[in-house]
Amino acid sequence: MAKIGINIATGSLQKNEMIVGIDLGTTNSLVAIIHPDTGKPVVLKEHDGMSLVPSVVHFGDKGVVTVGTEAKKYLVTEPQHTIFSVKRLMGKSYNDVREHTGFFSYKIIDDNTESLVKIQAGENFYSPVELSSFILKELKTRAEHILKTPVTKAVITVPAYFNDAQRQATRDAGKLAGLDVLRIVNEPTAASLAYGLGLSREETKTIAVYDLGGGTFDISLLRINQGIFEVLSTNGDTYLGGDDFDRAIVNHWAAQTGLSAEELAMHKRLSQELRLLAEEAKICLSREESFSGQAGGETLTLTRGELETLISPLVQKTIFSCSQALSDAGLTAEAIDEVVMVGGSTRVPLVKQEVSRFFGKAVHDELNPDEVVALGAAVQADVLAGNNKDVLLLDITPLSLGIETMGGLMDVLLPRNSKVPAKAGRQYTTQKDGQSGIRIAVYQGERDLVKDNRKLAEFNLSGIPAMPAGLPKVEVSFLVNADGILTVRAKELRSGIEQSIEVKPQYGLTDAEVEKMLLDSITHAREDIQVRALVEAQTEAGQLMDTTRNFIQKNAAFLTPAEMEETEKAIAALQALTASGTKDEIQGGIERLNELSRPYAERVMDQAISQAMKGKNIMEP
Ligand code: AMP
Repeated sequence: MAKIGINIATGSLQKNEMIVGIDLGTTNSLVAIIHPDTGKPVVLKEHDGMSLVPSVVHFGDKGVVTVGTEAKKYLVTEPQHTIFSVKRLMGKSYNDVREHTGFFSYKIIDDNTESLVKIQAGENFYSPVELSSFILKELKTRAEHILKTPVTKAVITVPAYFNDAQRQATRDAGKLAGLDVLRIVNEPTAASLAYGLGLSREETKTIAVYDLGGGTFDISLLRINQGIFEVLSTNGDTYLGGDDFDRAIVNHWAAQTGLSAEELAMHKRLSQELRLLAEEAKICLSREESFSGQAGGETLTLTRGELETLISPLVQKTIFSCSQALSDAGLTAEAIDEVVMVGGSTRVPLVKQEVSRFFGKAVHDELNPDEVVALGAAVQADVLAGNNKDVLLLDITPLSLGIETMGGLMDVLLPRNSKVPAKAGRQYTTQKDGQSGIRIAVYQGERDLVKDNRKLAEFNLSGIPAMPAGLPKVEVSFLVNADGILTVRAKELRSGIEQSIEVKPQYGLTDAEVEKMLLDSITHAREDIQVRALVEAQTEAGQLMDTTRNFIQKNAAFLTPAEMEETEKAIAALQALTASGTKDEIQGGIERLNELSRPYAERVMDQAISQAMKGKNIMEP
């Protein structure tokens, strides 16, 4: 229901702005709203009836950026300039995705493994946040076009397992796209809402949300209690989906026609043709019993029974994840009251049948499985707009949050499953007399040692006045807002000095940074990477020159005068290169100095070892 208000300044009538729900998906994205006339959630559609926008971004000549169906056409012809599956990279460092780089046909920059990944497209470098913002901007423009009104407020969904950094990255992407992101909502929560589950305050239910898309599989178990959604457990496989069904069909046909895997890999066009035909067959077999089509001049057939034999092991894998999720939550299948199906691949009859059999009840598949998450996001948006006062929707922290204490131990301030918004605080003190600072490192996870958990942020509280150890009282407080985003504050109570520091997750960005980032990454990305490489080479050269100088000074007796002179010359050359050379020239200088010093360094080592061994038995007497 749209509300009307009066702008006091202008006297004009203004409509309450619509808040849209956005499903920002790995393969497809879409927008939904509550229909002003019916009060029911609907997905926004173009004139051609299309609601899904492929989550694909293409960078063309002269900086032309296209998103969606248009961009998808370039996946085969210009893979280097066409970015897909960017959601898999949100809030990730290169180390996090190292194993899977083969999956992406575009270039992921690997020069700085600990910081956020960057993606290269042509001359430019982009962060996953920027790439997602292109998709969100496209969705915003489309929504404005369809609704004929500005759209600036949104609810965006994320997988239940997304950590703080990934949620923050999604929020930042919204901000970059010009959207005020009112809430980040878990996808399974949204899917349940689309079915009206959890909308009544009295309701207490346990729900399984089974989400099988094109490339990912998630199972989430939720408990709804008086409007509060609690994530009991999640499981899944981030590289399992309908695409694997297609691949199984391609392999089956290839074997039938006598094509080897190598031949298939060589014939890019044929393999692409087969892949498209395989998807067509799979989709057809969700309705029909048999399929027949043409590829590479051959007639290829498949029956539903054959398809089921091919994909059965993959479906069983998802069922195994379901039993894993149940056991993590300490539940049996009987405890599940409702099963909600999400994702295009849940249209496969075998999938429905197996999931239904496993949970022992009929599944919810009445709504379009591609749309349910967006529809639920619209329901949540409506609640936030104040149009549905009966509902109080709260989420829960998926993992424990704490700080590092002595010996690398995790001290939990907010246990997992705390209702959000949530607040917690604890006092700490110093270990040394006169200690003026205390380091606060924030972690997320369930393990006892912080090294096994995920680090979110770190900061120093400095300026503590000199006091004996144990006397200062440093209060650390955690605040998780309704989006599941964390703010940490630290304050020394005894001295009255108050220092409070706001920390965003390690990969999060300040508002100013987000604004600056878009411009910077486009204009300076290449330079940034080069500058960083140069500074690293200069630092390495500096360290090598220092150690070599120290070494020849200490061990002058072991070097010949010629070696001494040569080494000094190489140091002087490297010194000059460090001042004005390129990264590669400096690297060359480093290698030359290393080569030169290696023989006598080894000699000195041998000497030292034989000295140390002199008069000693290797074996104890
Ligand atoms: P999603 O990521 O949720 O958009 O799901 C996309 C996946 O669903 C792709 O692998 C599609 O091939 C698959 N899909 C879409 N429609 C059908 C259908 N009718 N039967 C089987 N799979 C389908």
